[in-house]
Amino acid sequence: MSNFFNIKLENLRGVGTQRAQLLQKELNLFTYGDLIQRYPFRYLDRTQFYTIADLHDDLPFVQVKGVLRNREVLGEGPKQRLVAKVADASGELELVWFKGVKYLQTVVRNHQEYIVFGKPTMFNGRPQMAHPELEEVTEAKPGQSFLQPVYNTTEKLKNYHRIDSKALARLVADLLKIAPPHISESLSPALIQHYGLMSKVDALLQIHFPQSPELLQAARFRLKFEELFYVQLKLLRQRDQRKVELAGQIFREVPSLVDFYKNHLPFDLTGAQKRVIHDIYKDFCAGKQMNRLLQGDVGSGKTIVAFIAMLMAADNGAQSCLMAPTEILADQHYAGLKAYADQLGIQIGKLTGSTRTAARRELHEELRAGRMHMLVGTHALLEDVVQFRNLGLTIMDEQHRFGVAQRSKLWQKNPHVIPHVLVMTATPIPRTLAMTLYGDLDVSVIDELPAGRKPIVTVHRYDANRLKVFQFLRDQINLDRQVYIVYPLIEESETLDYKDLTDGYESVARAFPEFQISIVHGRMRAEEKDFEMQRFIKKETQIMVATTVIEVGVNVPNASVMVIESSERFGLSQLHQLRGRVGRGADQSYCILMSGYKLSKDSRTRLETMVRTNNGFEIADIDLKLRGPGDLMGTQQSGVLDLLIADLAKDGRILTESRAAAQQLLSEDPGLSQPENLNIRRHIESLPATAVNWSRIS
Ligand code: ADP
Ligand code: MG
Repeated sequence: MSNFFNIKLENLRGVGTQRAQLLQKELNLFTYGDLIQRYPFRYLDRTQFYTIADLHDDLPFVQVKGVLRNREVLGEGPKQRLVAKVADASGELELVWFKGVKYLQTVVRNHQEYIVFGKPTMFNGRPQMAHPELEEVTEAKPGQSFLQPVYNTTEKLKNYHRIDSKALARLVADLLKIAPPHISESLSPALIQHYGLMSKVDALLQIHFPQSPELLQAARFRLKFEELFYVQLKLLRQRDQRKVELAGQIFREVPSLVDFYKNHLPFDLTGAQKRVIHDIYKDFCAGKQMNRLLQGDVGSGKTIVAFIAMLMAADNGAQSCLMAPTEILADQHYAGLKAYADQLGIQIGKLTGSTRTAARRELHEELRAGRMHMLVGTHALLEDVVQFRNLGLTIMDEQHRFGVAQRSKLWQKNPHVIPHVLVMTATPIPRTLAMTLYGDLDVSVIDELPAGRKPIVTVHRYDANRLKVFQFLRDQINLDRQVYIVYPLIEESETLDYKDLTDGYESVARAFPEFQISIVHGRMRAEEKDFEMQRFIKKETQIMVATTVIEVGVNVPNASVMVIESSERFGLSQLHQLRGRVGRGADQSYCILMSGYKLSKDSRTRLETMVRTNNGFEIADIDLKLRGPGDLMGTQQSGVLDLLIADLAKDGRILTESRAAAQQLLSEDPGLSQPENLNIRRHIESLPATAVNWSRIS
């Protein structure tokens, strides 16, 4: 099968060298396989027409049918345009084209009946369409597609080379005439039967030229299923392979842990925490290297889980380290973990950018000698001079801030046995994304908050009501609470944001002469930040004015009010992160989202979502729908997300099914060696080893 689909497009009838080059350059289409897999992005339903009298501004793209007349060219040079009218029984629609006038003159004809497709707008009460697509009305021939495919193309191809969507459709149609004998089935008969899938060859025919909406639906399902199935199969195989190949230290003994549970546990663990600890312990006893992602909403209590895992390592003569993305967080983790460790006589150290040379040297020595059991720090941990006697576990907090390179640096810190890895994230990732991005990791979720937490009350207030908001803050502070006021910081406009922050600080200082105020921002040196943080933690200050540096992980239980200025400028997950800074103590907590009156539709949705729910996973799902998967996770991982047809924001159910299918397949036939799975094995073998998306034809 691979040979046929690797044939260069210039060999296709009607393409030729010049068009082949254009298709390459403009649409990234090189081979038969590329063209067949460039699926239509929508379809024209030839049975659905609007009457011209019913057109109005709020309609999306629509189609009308009518006879064209009054075609003329107006204007000169760059102002030149082609205008015409189309009339049906109900009225007249004006059409205008600003580009490709010369070519259009040769194809747009008076007195011809056309199907006109475009976005209507009203001008002086009359409907208009700019750059509509025209299609001559002809009698539908038997066997002809019911829905007409529409392909993406470029202005250049359309206007100067006459390669519009219809031309592409003709090429695809020609290709599909000769392709079927070469299309082999890429899924096993069992899968096809179990999930009621259309065959591969039919799916490819129907996706381009569907004969009915039902067949189109079936084709889409089949192709999405296949695409997601192969992504999952690849991820799961990677995971399984790693488990076979990489040994891990065994941490079975737990004397200090028992001591900790019996005598020092500061609170009852939640059921979810216990479950996750059990997952980790099972991994530690398996003799294989652990790679586990721990997801838990802000405040769900990941830190103590981390400590318990580190304790298991210590109980078995292994060292562990916990890496945080900022110094503030590292300090806080250190303070929290040290309190536990001291009770148990466990040695714990801290290493950050601001650790002094002498202390640093001593720390290095202690680590090398194995006298120090636990280390908390920032990126400073990664430096080559930091050597362990026996590093057995590395934990990364808020892992989305750490790259793969950094992960592998930590791996190398034990040349004998790769340390177990636990990555913790408070950014709830929608399940579909987690399965795809971290599909090769084992995932544990803390989906339960400690008992007795009061849900945070979130409100949206306009800037004009600031005085009332300030009065509320004053009342809260007089109840002995503390308050955060956060300003946006977006890198491109750092100067501007800095000004926002300092202006804000001054107005807060003026409004609250009776209170002490801290300020923390990215331009301060680490010691200054720390100093201010400490003042706030010690309750010497009542208000903390800050940029988003306090976003991650900061824990001051007495702070119960979070004011977010210009909240419309924050992303949804960031808002949720910020809100998570409050609600950590016993008091009722509040989050106040400030904004101006002018809000975009998306901003409004974000703020409304925040007001409506505290559930991080629900918020993550909405974020995914608003932003799309690529944007959500950054371009870094876009390789995995570079899907041809499936959409992680919408196809969650298909993804779940396909992952289950892949899992079952691997449990029944790990080597894919049984005859009934021949299709699958052949398909994988036909791919280049580097292929990211295993569903592609090549
Ligand atoms: P996060 O998951 O955001 O890192 P933390 O580990 O910082 O959450 O925990 C948030 C707060 O909840 C801390 O003050 C912690 O001591 C407390 N906490 C954690 N687990 C429990 C529990 N099971 N019961 C009561 N309080 C808990
Ligand atoms: Mg945390």
